[in-house]
Amino acid sequence: MIFILIFLNLSCELESQRSRPSYYSNGKFGEFEPYVRSFDSNYYRYTGKTLPLDNLEMEFADSASSGSDRAVGECNYRTRKIKVIRKYWQSASSNERTIIIYHELGHCYLRRGHKSDKSGSMPLSIMYPTIKTNNFFQDNKQDYLEELFTGNTSQFSSLVYHQQLALKEESDDKDEETFCRH
Ligand SMILES: [Zn+2]
Repeated sequence: MIFILIFLNLSCELESQRSRPSYYSNGKFGEFEPYVRSFDSNYYRYTGKTLPLDNLEMEFADSASSGSDRAVGECNYRTRKIKVIRKYWQSASSNERTIIIYHELGHCYLRRGHKSDKSGSMPLSIMYPTIKTNNFFQDNKQDYLEELFTGNTSQFSSLVYHQQLALKEESDDKDEETFCRH
């Protein structure tokens, strides 16, 4: 407990010593700013580094450049411009908005590609190619953040559950096989 308190204290000190990046001062991220700020501070929490967001541009669009009518956002690796589909954003919950912005920043700033790993029906990454992660995000937020910034998935308790289930099924199969041979 003492260790945890000291650690938290240290984290707070580090956070307060951090200088406020200038790109937030002109409101250039508009209503995306709270989500960008939260991504930025989580990035700092996991890596100890500040994101170079000076070149980031964000805007609403009525449709994706790809022409896909199922896309909710996109990030151009080269220009570092994020487009968010306005119609989807307007009806999205706060968690869905977080996932969209984190996912796109994950592409452009963490250089992450898509990750389709699942535990049962639960995606194990914000970088899952669809917004399905939203169904599980609220209950597993810290696990998803850790995965995004470190690539780890072993922290997901549901993964442990499904691994145990798979092992159990495997040993059940063996029993059955042995039984059949008798
Ligand atoms: Zn994507």
